[in-house]
Amino acid sequence: MSTSPDEELAQSADQDFDALRDRYRSERDKRLRADGNEQYVEVVGQFEHYVNDPYVDGPLEREALQEDVEVLVIGGGFGGLQAAARLRGVGVEDIRIVEKGGDFGGTWYWNRYPGAQCDIESYIYLPLLEELGYVPTEKYVRAREILDYSQSIGRHFDLYRGALFQTEVTGMRWDEEIDRWIVSTNRGDALRARFVTMANGPLNRPKLPGIPGIHDYKGHTFHTSRWDYDYTGGNPNGNLDRLSKKTIAVIGTGATAIQCVPFLGEAAKKLLVFQRTPSSVDVRGNSPTDAEWAADLQPGWHKHRMENFNGLVSGVPQSEDLVHDGWTDLIGKMVNRFKEASQAGKIDVPQIMEKANFDKMNEIRSRVDEFVDDPILAEKLKPYYPMFCKRPTFNDDYLPTFNRGNVELIDTNGKGVDRITEKGLVVAGVEYEVDCIIFATGFEVGTSYARRSGYEITGRNGVTLSKKWSEGMSSLHGMQSRGFPNCFLMHMSQAAFTANFPHLLEELTTHLSHVIGHALSEGYRTVEVSESAEEAWVETILEKGAGAMGALGGAECTPGYYNNEGQPNPGAARSAPYGGGSIEFFKLLADWRSEGSFQGLEFKT
Ligand code: NDP
Repeated sequence: MSTSPDEELAQSADQDFDALRDRYRSERDKRLRADGNEQYVEVVGQFEHYVNDPYVDGPLEREALQEDVEVLVIGGGFGGLQAAARLRGVGVEDIRIVEKGGDFGGTWYWNRYPGAQCDIESYIYLPLLEELGYVPTEKYVRAREILDYSQSIGRHFDLYRGALFQTEVTGMRWDEEIDRWIVSTNRGDALRARFVTMANGPLNRPKLPGIPGIHDYKGHTFHTSRWDYDYTGGNPNGNLDRLSKKTIAVIGTGATAIQCVPFLGEAAKKLLVFQRTPSSVDVRGNSPTDAEWAADLQPGWHKHRMENFNGLVSGVPQSEDLVHDGWTDLIGKMVNRFKEASQAGKIDVPQIMEKANFDKMNEIRSRVDEFVDDPILAEKLKPYYPMFCKRPTFNDDYLPTFNRGNVELIDTNGKGVDRITEKGLVVAGVEYEVDCIIFATGFEVGTSYARRSGYEITGRNGVTLSKKWSEGMSSLHGMQSRGFPNCFLMHMSQAAFTANFPHLLEELTTHLSHVIGHALSEGYRTVEVSESAEEAWVETILEKGAGAMGALGGAECTPGYYNNEGQPNPGAARSAPYGGGSIEFFKLLADWRSEGSFQGLEFKT
């Protein structure tokens, strides 16, 4: 029986996909390592200086405080600012934000490396835009504008009143006698807080690779989240004029490196980029904001746009694609494949998703050939894993940087840098001498909540949160845990995953301010999750499965922080985001609030 040309084409595509699947598996297998998260070094002891604040003139002098506060918010990034703004909205006046940095901004306070820019559209990424009457100046704004905007939120909601900057929480302990948290800080404060909201941020603690010899290096080093402009010269817009006689090494090729490498390539005498796994680098497509469009925005536009994006990246078709970028493009490809399949009368959802993913990644790999002149080099820069195994990146200057004569890619074939010596780095037996090593090696993710927060939380009867969660996390909606009254957490675990993290924060802070507002207006001293509600929520998390995170990537993912560095994680099922997806989770919270009985919470006067 003869096959039609269409069928032949489909068969050859299937063979290509089989080959790709094999390639993905072999790329994953060669990167898997038994030490998982243990391969990284914690920034303590002799590494502590990596987290010093380079953006303040010196320590701030002030008296230690011992006082009552109604709501204490830990963290002055988006999460803390959104929480405080929403608390103002329910009438809470007495709010103190405790922040380690010298001002508001969180991620955007710390990450000021050259080229830092948001990679989610700024019209949906920046929170509270309608409240502030602000429209960002570009589709993807630069870090400075986001930092300035964070400070505007602080001014708009009068949050500088009561803010404690350059202050780190060192511990918090529930005091049964007074029904308050005693929050201690590195400045000797003992704040007696009725409620505590923890907005520590998901990626706040820089990590270093535990490369043998890392202690031995004698040259200059820093982590990208504490950029040393004294050493490089210039500013976040570039002009790193002190590097013209320097040989610089960058370790890491994740979302941060993609943004700063073009600036380093332009400025350094010689730049060596040490790559373990290439990123997927899609088109940036930035543009200034159209003033007419901005003037025409109708009330409710911000939430509507966030929800449209979230729908698309959650795989829920929308009547239009408002954001129309690299995140929503993959989903567009899936929808097209669905249409083709339904016309042919055979719908196989996992197969359609996988093929759309292959299409998208083929497109990403073709872009490398388009922008990198040397085909051998281009091959090394191509990512061979499914999209969403790692954070996708968007940049128009990264790939062409490798055409420069002063820039060299040192591809480690998935192994990482072998060794660091007094003078430089060793890969495959070759030592590369450098003046400075810049660690673009990211942030802690898979470590314990207390370690990442930097302090322990001691609840009723002296039980710590680390102890309670040592066998797995338990909470209601990811936010409240029994034994820790009046304490609210903000993260994805047992809550929801969305690519646009401030959208999650918006929903969580609306919810927690609703609960705190109710407790305060009714004169309750404590609010705590009931045992049965907590158990039921943990059951729901387990029943609903692993959740959206990684669902688009799957088992062929190379290791990284999205999949616990490819290692089995016994606690993963319990600390997963809600498996029904963020849209369902946000609705569930909204329904819970409208139902009105504060189901699962115990209030006490
Ligand atoms: P990542 O964790 O994404 O990247 C760390 C990099 O270091 C990876 O390329 C990793 O390789 C590499 N690495 C680790 N150990 C070694 C080693 N021993 N030898 C060689 N290379 C090594 O950190 P980033 O700071 O790039 O990004 C963190 C997150 O911050 C992003 O995922 C994103 O969520 C966010 N971000 C957001 C931005 C925005 O615009 N909104 C911009 C920048 C970051 P491997 O992949 O093999 O592990």
